[in-house]
Amino acid sequence: MNQVTKQLKKIKDEVVKCKKCALCKTRILPVVGQGSHKAKAVFVGEAPGANEDKTGLPFCGNSGKILDELFVSIGYKREDAYICNILKCRPPSNRDPLPAEKAACVPYLIKQIEAIKPKVICPMGNHAASFLLAEFGLADKITGISKMHGKIFEAKASFGKIKIIPLYHPAVAVYNANTKDVLKKDFGILKKFL
Ligand code: URA
Ligand code: SF4
Repeated sequence: MNQVTKQLKKIKDEVVKCKKCALCKTRILPVVGQGSHKAKAVFVGEAPGANEDKTGLPFCGNSGKILDELFVSIGYKREDAYICNILKCRPPSNRDPLPAEKAACVPYLIKQIEAIKPKVICPMGNHAASFLLAEFGLADKITGISKMHGKIFEAKASFGKIKIIPLYHPAVAVYNANTKDVLKKDFGILKKFL
């Protein structure tokens, strides 16, 4: 097992046992993350939904289908990316995560990013984008997702420079063809870095 895989396994073992917030009591399975340990891009959603909670896999429902379509549109394979969420456990009835839950859970995401050392992080949706820009010291750059999507923000991680490229959340594109077109364009921008 290589070093990255060992580190990711250690994070997984910690998440599976985690009781740092009350979501551990209501979730079925934690959704740790899935994909290549050598990924150049890490995609970050907000929190698992009902399908993810049942399977333990990120983006495995309708939003996941859109995400798959977007990967196909740029000739990239989902397996070559790493996909995860800010929160590893599902909030009941998909309510918005509480700030304390995000604060409790984000160290796992940061450790995942530090293990994989991607070139690009793509937060999906306004919540994930704003939260991650703040985490990487770019709170002054936060506006709304309609302004931030597809933009390239330069940030500094513990292992070096990274780019943060916010995207619309694929769930929005399930019922909105215009958003899907915008997402396709933004994936076109992203392609250069993969
Ligand atoms: N929406 C998310 O933000 N994450 C998932 O894993 C699924 C849907
Ligand atoms: Fe732990 Fe995160 Fe699950 Fe809360 S959401 S119990 S912090 S893994």
